[in-house]
Amino acid sequence: MNVEISNLSMTYPSGKTALRGINLKMSSPNLIGLLGPNGAGKSTLMKLLVAGLLPTEGTILIDGKPLIKKERLLKARLGYLPQSFGLFDELTVWQFLDYMAALKGITNSKEAISAVIQSTNLEEKQKAKIRTLSGGQRQRVGIAQAILGAPHFLIFDEPTVGLDPEERIGFRNLFSQMAQDRLVLLSTHIIEDVQSVCNQLIVIHQGCIRFVGSPAKLIAGAVGHVGVFREKDQRQEAGLQITSRINTAQGILCRAVAEKLPDFVEQAEPTLEDAYLYLISGGVVQ
Ligand code: ADP
Repeated sequence: MNVEISNLSMTYPSGKTALRGINLKMSSPNLIGLLGPNGAGKSTLMKLLVAGLLPTEGTILIDGKPLIKKERLLKARLGYLPQSFGLFDELTVWQFLDYMAALKGITNSKEAISAVIQSTNLEEKQKAKIRTLSGGQRQRVGIAQAILGAPHFLIFDEPTVGLDPEERIGFRNLFSQMAQDRLVLLSTHIIEDVQSVCNQLIVIHQGCIRFVGSPAKLIAGAVGHVGVFREKDQRQEAGLQITSRINTAQGILCRAVAEKLPDFVEQAEPTLEDAYLYLISGGVVQ
């Protein structure tokens, strides 16, 4: 599956421009992380990709054909977990998934539902009413409906919200397994969600694409722009963004990013988080 986005812009009726001139190519198999701070435009991009919104400008081609013309075909091959997902509280987990299977036109629904219940660890909750579930369990039901029927194109908008660290690791592994023969697009503002599993990252900020490439490339672009210093040594420096403060026996150790590091800052190896923060704070990554 190939997705080609050209010159895509989206302005909401309120006048807010959420995306400007987006150009992107994605093809399967791939697990792509869409990173950006809150309000960057990630959800808007995902809604445009599932034809839940119409762009103000630009085109989306799916396997070379306009999304508008292939909407039905795409939907049959699409699994989508929106950011806010309404579940039917009075249905049990199984009944809800059965309903979703019917909507998706899945014929061997019993088998398909059992498979997703197993991969999302919901065996013990399959007969429970959705209103009795915890936030994390509801999120798992949302993920289960998205992967139901093993669609070719999976779009997850902040899928790990509300999950505990162990569940998050479990889902990261599941997404990376699914991406072996599919296109999986995962939006998040949590770096650890994409760090170990995504081979491609798209960073979006203020409605524009700021970076497309591998995590290694993003990190390489921040070399020389990340450093550490003791808080007591700090002087007022324009453009120095402190990204963390750690209490140590020798005082507070600060980590910072800057276009040009001041003399009192000792250069450090960038992590993916440093590189992301450097980019978002206005840094230029080649
Ligand atoms: P993200 O998913 O990265 O947090 P969104 O795509 O939800 O970002 O939002 C991008 C921008 O568009 C934000 O400024 C947000 O307030 C605005 N926005 C989102 N949805 C709407 C809407 N329905 N009407 C008006 N503005 C919106």
